[in-house]
Amino acid sequence: MKISFPHMGTSHIAIKHLLKNLGYEVISPPAPTSKTLDLGVRYSPEFACIPFKVLLGTYVEVLEAGAEIILTTGGVGPCRAGIYAMLQKRILEDLGYDFEMIVFEPPLHGLRDFLGKIKYVVKKNGLSWRQFLFEFRTAWEKLNVLDDIEILSHRIRPYELKKGETTKVFRDCLKIIDQAQTREEIRDAKATCTRMLKDIPRKTSHKPLKIGIIGEIYVVLEPFMNLDVEITLGEMGVATHRSIYLTQWTRQNSIINTEGSIRKVAYPYLQRMIGGHGINSIGETILYAKNKFDGVIQIAPFTCIPEIVAKGILPKVSRDLDIPILYLTIDEQTAKAGLQTRLEAFVGLLLQKRHTGGMAYAGLLGN
Ligand code: SF4
Repeated sequence: MKISFPHMGTSHIAIKHLLKNLGYEVISPPAPTSKTLDLGVRYSPEFACIPFKVLLGTYVEVLEAGAEIILTTGGVGPCRAGIYAMLQKRILEDLGYDFEMIVFEPPLHGLRDFLGKIKYVVKKNGLSWRQFLFEFRTAWEKLNVLDDIEILSHRIRPYELKKGETTKVFRDCLKIIDQAQTREEIRDAKATCTRMLKDIPRKTSHKPLKIGIIGEIYVVLEPFMNLDVEITLGEMGVATHRSIYLTQWTRQNSIINTEGSIRKVAYPYLQRMIGGHGINSIGETILYAKNKFDGVIQIAPFTCIPEIVAKGILPKVSRDLDIPILYLTIDEQTAKAGLQTRLEAFVGLLLQKRHTGGMAYAGLLGN
C-alpha cells in the first residue's frame, strides 16, 4: 500500500526508511514550496494557523501522487492542534480523495491507543513486533544521526570562510545518510559527514554571537516555514541553538516526560499549561539567558494561541534577565527579504549591546 506523512525538517529521511522496511510503498512528502502553501490556503478555513495550511497542501500533493494512507500526529492541550487532523480529513474527503488517515496522539496521553495504532500499521503487512522493533531501532538511529549532523552544521556555519559551503556539504550529507541502510552503514555515514563538515575551511579568530531559537514546533523545525532562519543567521556569522529537535521531542513526549523540568524553570512566570510549546518558550528563554546567550528569537505562526500567550510574558523575562528577544510571526505573506532585514537589525543591536554592555536595544524589538 502507498503511504505518506508530513514533511518536517529532515525527519522524512528516517520515517521513509522505517515505513519502507515495514513493507510499504512510500510516497515521500516533497519539501513544502509556495505551491504547497497556495494549495493549503485555497482549501483551509481562514482562521487556521499556517502549519495547518502547509500540512493540508502537502496532503493534497501526496494524495495526487497516489498515497492511500497518511500517517500524522494529533495534539493535546488547549490549542487547536487536537482537532486539525480530523478537520483536514473532512476537507480532503469533500475534495473527493479516498484515503485512510491514521492519527498518532502523544503516547503519554493514551498508551493503549498509541500501541494499538502501531500494531495496526505493522500488522497490515503481516510483520511481527520483533521485526518492527528491529526496523524502529534502525530508523531511530538514522533520526539521531540526522539531528546530530544538523546540529554540527549549525556550529560550523558561522565560521565558514566561503559563504554557503556548510549548507552545500550538509545537503550532500543528507544524501549519504539517506543511502545508509544498516546500523553499521548509518554509523559510517555519521563518521563521513562529521569529517566532511569539520574539513570545511574556517575562520579562527571569529567570536560569533549566540542566539537561541524558540517557538512552535512546526515553524521551528521546517525550514520552508521559518524561511531558513538558522542558515541565514549562520551565514551572517551568528551561532544558533535550536530549542527543539525531533529526537529530543519524541523522547520527551513518548518515552519519559522530561518536560516537567522546563515547566519548573518557567514556573515563576507561567504556572499552567497553555498548549503547544508556549510554556517551553518561556522556560527555554530563561535557560538561554542563564547560559549567557546574546539573544533569543521566537518564531510563531500568526494566530498561534500558545505562542501569543508566551509573547505576552516574554518582555518581562527579557527585562528581568537582560536578554533581548526578537519576535517573528509567520504567515503566508512573510517574505525572505523582510525577514533578512529584521535579522540584520537584531544582530546589529546585539553586537552593539556586546560592545557597550548597555540596554540600547530596549523597546526596539517588537513585531
Ligand atoms: S500550537 Fe499554535 S500553530 Fe500549532 S496548532 Fe496550536 S495554535 Fe496552531
